[in-house]
Amino acid sequence: MPLPSSVLVVGAGGREHTLVRLLLASPAKPRVVCAPGNAGIAQERLAKNSSPVECVNISAEDLPKLLAFAQEKKIDLVVVGPDNPLALGIVDLFQKHGLKIWGVNQKAAQFESSKIFSQKFMEKYGIPTAAAGTFSDVVAAKKFCATLGGKCVVKADGLALGKGVLICTNQAEAEKAVDEIMVSKAFGAAGANVVIQEFLEGIEVSMHALCDGTTAKIFPTSQDHKRALDDDLGLNTGGMGTYSPTPFLNDAQLADVAKKVLEPFMRGCIEEKIDYRGLLYPGVMLTKNGPKILEFNARFGDPETQVYLTRLENDLVELLDASASGTLARHELKWKPEASVCVIMASGGYPGNYPKGKNIYGLDATNKLPRTKVFHAGTALKDGQIVTNGGRVLGVTALGKDLRTAQATAYAAVECIQFEGAQFRRDIAAKAF
Ligand code: AMP
Repeated sequence: MPLPSSVLVVGAGGREHTLVRLLLASPAKPRVVCAPGNAGIAQERLAKNSSPVECVNISAEDLPKLLAFAQEKKIDLVVVGPDNPLALGIVDLFQKHGLKIWGVNQKAAQFESSKIFSQKFMEKYGIPTAAAGTFSDVVAAKKFCATLGGKCVVKADGLALGKGVLICTNQAEAEKAVDEIMVSKAFGAAGANVVIQEFLEGIEVSMHALCDGTTAKIFPTSQDHKRALDDDLGLNTGGMGTYSPTPFLNDAQLADVAKKVLEPFMRGCIEEKIDYRGLLYPGVMLTKNGPKILEFNARFGDPETQVYLTRLENDLVELLDASASGTLARHELKWKPEASVCVIMASGGYPGNYPKGKNIYGLDATNKLPRTKVFHAGTALKDGQIVTNGGRVLGVTALGKDLRTAQATAYAAVECIQFEGAQFRRDIAAKAF
């Protein structure tokens, strides 16, 4: 089968900008279009004829419009970035209409869209995880928290924009968390049921594996920085920066985690008739009793994608096509030996309320910097000027011969960029030293 020559990327963030960039770099020189995209994606150019990547104003959740667009444009491969369209069944819908699409189907997306589904699956198939209980009853939930001395994590079952997880240090906090999620419905219907896990101490790392239904290929390690402020202070965010590789797992230890997690995962999927083709992204806590899985995501991480894909040497069109086609076993993932660091520049106030439409200055200067790429997340074009258009605005990413070099290069690029209220952490990757 020839490789896809036209690709539609669904999504609008830094992850999607990175995917677009790598797809454009494929020797297949595909025509790449994006829905809805952002200002950075719209500036990328096709390898074939240098024309700009078309960004079409269709939301990532408007499945009927996306389908009509893909059919009209005769798209060979659709690549889905965010979790919402996956949970809505975009893959099932496109497959039903005979289109090739990369991402997990609706059944497989449950690993992310239902924490109860994941927890039960991990327990059934012996995947190491936190001691946990699942509840639909408030009194039973609070009783279970008490058995953990109140040191627990209360999680809304459903998708809650990454916010439905409350960490508690005592019983009073745990009861408040249960009330907030199950009674006040702070996260809406997502909180009708909860998972309550014991609080695990350790070092948290991100894992990624590309899957094709039977084979799972593990990526190197990376680490995200979830809190808004330096030294892991402040509120939880979608992620303020990443780096890869981490020093916390060597190759043998990573292979061991992969064996303990991916083997039972794929076996369980086959047993449960879940055709898992797409990306598996487990959140892992390295505890003194070994690695434990906190949760599963069913798509590329953001901003993990920025550091992973800048290190990837393979042709991404070929890999995603193989993942969707069930032929991944023929491919070996190859990674640059260099380190990669991504620093997120966010709008002032993020993750709370923030303004939009602030002019961004200095992007041109970063184009001249070596081994540096600024991936756009929340940006838009207004009267010919690139402006802020979201909480996380840019992912300033650099490669280096080691982490210190990559870190210094990324921060040198950050210094070139200004917008009113810009906030970023100054300690991305510092944990590694
Ligand atoms: P989740 O969305 O389930 O990954 O949870 C969000 C964040 O909460 C994780 O990235 C961890 O930092 C933290 N977390 C989740 N579960 C636990 C746990 N059982 N113990 C300690 N921290 C946790």
